[in-house]
Amino acid sequence: MFPLLRRVCSRGATMFDIHHLNCGTMCPWGGGFVDGVSGGLTARLVCHCLLVETDDGLVLVDTGFGTEDVAEPHPRLSRPLTTLLRPLLDVGETALARLHARGYRASDVRHIILTHLDFEHAGGIEDFPDATVHVMADELDAARHRGGLVARGRYRPHQWEDPVRWRTYHPEGEPWFGFPAVRALEGLPPEILMVPLPGHTAGHAGVAVKGRDRWLLHAGDAYFYREELDPTTPTCTPGLAAWQSLMEVDHDLRLANQARLRELARHHGDEVRIFCAHDAIELEGRGRALAAKRPARVLEPV
Ligand SMILES: [Zn+2]
Repeated sequence: MFPLLRRVCSRGATMFDIHHLNCGTMCPWGGGFVDGVSGGLTARLVCHCLLVETDDGLVLVDTGFGTEDVAEPHPRLSRPLTTLLRPLLDVGETALARLHARGYRASDVRHIILTHLDFEHAGGIEDFPDATVHVMADELDAARHRGGLVARGRYRPHQWEDPVRWRTYHPEGEPWFGFPAVRALEGLPPEILMVPLPGHTAGHAGVAVKGRDRWLLHAGDAYFYREELDPTTPTCTPGLAAWQSLMEVDHDLRLANQARLRELARHHGDEVRIFCAHDAIELEGRGRALAAKRPARVLEPV
């Protein structure tokens, strides 16, 4: 029995208990030139995942690094990319450990929704063998075909070689805050949606979840640095700008989707909280509070 069940507010809308988890700290070289705040030689990036408690079981949005990644990182993970990102690979940060700490079992997770299949998002899939895994069809196709050097590094079939119950979707559906094609997901309540945001990868998507007072939009890797969504002077650190350029599959689409997210923040910021996967400040809920202290070493978005 789940200790915290779906709640119904006075207007009849479904409300979930939603937890923000870091399922993988990464410490690339570069300090503040990467994360905008660190004073030392290394930066701190996180793998921001969501744990959503519904009356039909637990839902994970992204999985970070998994226990198998920690136990035997290679060849599950790419040596060049882990050399650049320098993940801590602490078993205590895995989604499975985070759930155990809350008194849950792996089998309580009924659904996993993936923003995309990059290795630092998909590592925990195998820790939850009873879950249905929801992902955009274009993303699964790209991950299976692995065309090119970057694709072979980012998509690591070892992470999902065990039988996985996939559910795939095409970018078509209903409008949501100006986004033309959000998707309701099979077996999940209508307050949990996929919002296609391709560009970083072919089938990249955000995941929207209706929270207590507003929607949450997990934007995955559609952007990396909190100030990229600044409505007037969007900026990015040099390190994260370079990383995004290296990993993008469609430059114009990526920037177009960032622009759409900025418009969403500008016009509906009181209704939708947007955050990305790797910004530690956003995970701590301090994104806007820090805006006034923005460091000088930033670039225009690329
Ligand atoms: Zn990522």
